[in-house]
Amino acid sequence: MDLILASQSATRRRILNSARISARFMSPQIDEENITKSLNAEQAAPRDIADTLAEHKALKISRKNLDSWVIGCDQILVFEGEIFGKPASREALKDSLSRLSGQTHRLITANVIYKDCKPQWRHIAISHMSMRPMSAAEIDAYVAAYWQEVRHAAGGYHFERTPDLFSAVRGHWFDIMGLSIGPITGFLNQIGTNNPYQSPKLAAVLGHPIAQSKSPRMHGHWLQKNGISGDYIAIDIPSAHFNNTLNMLFDVGFSGFNVTIPHKEHALAFADHMSPRAQRIGAANTLIKTDSGDIRADNTDGYGFITNLSTQSETWQPKAGPALVLGAGGAARAILVALLDAGVPKIYLSNRTRARADDLAAEISDLIEVIDWQDKEDVLSEVFTVVNSTSLGMMGKAALEFDVTDINPHALVTDLIYAPSETQLLKDARARGCEVVGGIGMLLHQAVPGFEAWFGTRPEVDQELEALMLT
Ligand code: NAP
Repeated sequence: MDLILASQSATRRRILNSARISARFMSPQIDEENITKSLNAEQAAPRDIADTLAEHKALKISRKNLDSWVIGCDQILVFEGEIFGKPASREALKDSLSRLSGQTHRLITANVIYKDCKPQWRHIAISHMSMRPMSAAEIDAYVAAYWQEVRHAAGGYHFERTPDLFSAVRGHWFDIMGLSIGPITGFLNQIGTNNPYQSPKLAAVLGHPIAQSKSPRMHGHWLQKNGISGDYIAIDIPSAHFNNTLNMLFDVGFSGFNVTIPHKEHALAFADHMSPRAQRIGAANTLIKTDSGDIRADNTDGYGFITNLSTQSETWQPKAGPALVLGAGGAARAILVALLDAGVPKIYLSNRTRARADDLAAEISDLIEVIDWQDKEDVLSEVFTVVNSTSLGMMGKAALEFDVTDINPHALVTDLIYAPSETQLLKDARARGCEVVGGIGMLLHQAVPGFEAWFGTRPEVDQELEALMLT
């Protein structure tokens, strides 16, 4: 089937790609403004305006591609009977947001499919978007931060970039994004395809900030490699709006999320159920919507950490003797629980801020002995596992000052840091005869259970993925 999407929108192209639908993309270049003006003058209903614009686009491309199936689409924002276009200036954006603030508007998404210049199918989706009340100062800050990005967006927002602007949404993610991919796959399956298309499943990583996250690259690779209809994106959510935004994202169709700093504890509190390991760690990095609609929290950091060590090392024996863990932050919690579960008999814990280590030890186990930061080298001759879970040694951060002269050469040394792929700690330990394991494998393995739960396939951690993630 030769399929053309009559749109140059990168978002719509991504949606089709995520459904594993191969299509050509063409820009219809119609005069949207004048068509809308004349339809408005005829007092056409907003949904008819969206539908007509979608038709014009599909028809224009269909005329030159008579044998192809052509998808045309359009989306308009309607509030109090008025169509909101792209804001012409910063002031216009402020006006638009102050009108939409605290109110519910509609996004009308029209989809048509043409063949041989005739309409074959159409679908209109209406999403109800309730924006939370925003103060004038908040609007000013939003305009200062996002003007360049949203100046070409109707109403002046991209839902996927700032979902926290909304208090409630009734609709589906893909309709809001501008293409009703579920109904489109349904129609394409009706007209015949060897491999039925499926509406893409959705997952995301949530954090604040989140732009640096490598998770979309990893999950995108697995989706592509396994030919799965699905998408995985990064969404920035400020802490103040975490619960409400999360509820909304589940409502619009997400199967689940990875959760990172600063939301891991909030994510645990948000869930209806939690895995025993998430409960023990006191934080969640994975949220899964179950078949019954409940939200289950898990923490796979410790699983990723242990799987990394056991797959990279043929000799590591957790029970051989004590471990030394440097750092008492969020990652250390999961590492301590995982090491104890793996059978490590005793853990020395050392952190710059001793009180933080004392609290963690008291919370987790009396098998953890806290030692002062300046004494961390004193136990090196007796430990069989050494873990750096501080951020020291990371590219662009301060170095970890750590003298490994006295290290037990039978110790396995691992660093959670993966940029650089081999830290100075690992280099020094290797020079002393120790086996060393870098941090990238933990990142890859911790992602496996979530991907399997959301997308139904257990993905493989291999060299190809590792190389991709280290570039
Ligand atoms: P976090 O909660 O912010 O904790 C940071 C830790 O580093 C704390 O123990 C902190 O000590 C210590 N630290 C920071 N600056 C220091 C300095 N100048 N001197 C001494 N100690 C210092 O971070 P996290 O979530 O635990 O993550 C820690 C590291 O692990 C990060 O580099 C992160 O990227 C990495 N990580 C990797 C993976 C993976 O999959 N490979 C997973 C999770 C985390 P204080 O308590 O004294 O501040």
